[in-house]
Amino acid sequence: MRINDPKIAARLGELDVELVPGTRLADLTSLGIGGTTDLLRIRKHESIPDLLTLLDANHVPHKFLGGGSNLLVGDGELPWVVLQLVPPEPGVILEGNFARVDAAADLGRTVTFCAKHDLGGMEGLIGVPGTVGGALRMNAGAYGMQIGAYVREVKLYRAADHKIEILQGNQISFEYRHTSFAPDDMMLAVTLELPSKPYKEILQNPPGASAGRMIDDLGLKGLSVGDARVSDRHANFFVNAGKASARDMLKLIADVRERVKKAYGVTLENEVVVWNG
Ligand SMILES: Cc1cc2nc3c(=O)[nH]c(=O)nc-3n(C[C@H](O)[C@H](O)[C@H](O)COP(=O)(O)OP(=O)(O)OC[C@H]3O[C@@H](n4cnc5c(N)ncnc54)[C@H](O)[C@@H]3O)c2cc1C
Repeated sequence: MRINDPKIAARLGELDVELVPGTRLADLTSLGIGGTTDLLRIRKHESIPDLLTLLDANHVPHKFLGGGSNLLVGDGELPWVVLQLVPPEPGVILEGNFARVDAAADLGRTVTFCAKHDLGGMEGLIGVPGTVGGALRMNAGAYGMQIGAYVREVKLYRAADHKIEILQGNQISFEYRHTSFAPDDMMLAVTLELPSKPYKEILQNPPGASAGRMIDDLGLKGLSVGDARVSDRHANFFVNAGKASARDMLKLIADVRERVKKAYGVTLENEVVVWNG
């Protein structure tokens, strides 16, 4: 979708929102798949309510992009614009055992930064790509831990109220890869409470995930549909080996899920978010 109206473009400038026309989402997603649309980069949290009022008034649908590591985006010209937060510097401020983190901050770098200051708990997430906001939205987890366990406060844009609010950790429910946030809520910042742990002890090598093991045992590493492929390195990850389309990737995912279901009777959760039209 293209924003061609100069009045909207001018208002975006006033709100300190950068308009990047004709952005290929394939360049912004881990799978390297996705069509083209206008990207709106938000520099100030405070401008979000006015930005969304502007988009709604002009019937411009939108989606919210974090680090693009859990998205399978449709091909071709996309029927919505994409919003993304610009990461501020510094993305993390530490106060005792509390880490105040901007949602646009990189998750792995945040975990490493905290670890270097002898704050642990989230080390399982060190290799999970994406932003802290994306991790919060999906309650990202690995090796038996989930980010939700450490959340004390979240600053978010509540779509239902059209305003920025603060929620306490106990007002939010965090379940396996699922949270009680509404689909249109935008995570803006989070306060995490992390246990003290010496840096040396934090860095460890936890065991592999079971979904990966099942896919591996079935010999599915390298299985492909077009250029969509089960990663040779991590069996539970799908990769784009060249010019895979969203359709190829969806076929491959369905194929792997069916084979695992047949062999083990287990239905694998499809954790990737599909933006298809
Ligand atoms: C190689 C690889 C390994 C992975 N390993 C793991 C793993 O071990 N555990 C795990 O949990 N995940 C894993 N993932 C998935 C992914 O890294 C996580 O889901 C990550 O938290 C997604 O964050 P993101 O910023 O990239 O979100 P995106 O992919 O950009 O977005 C995902 C969803 O979150 C929403 N979103 C993003 N940011 C915000 C925000 N600030 N506010 C509101 N909504 C937002 C988007 O609208 C979208 O619906 C892996 C992915 C890859 C490619």
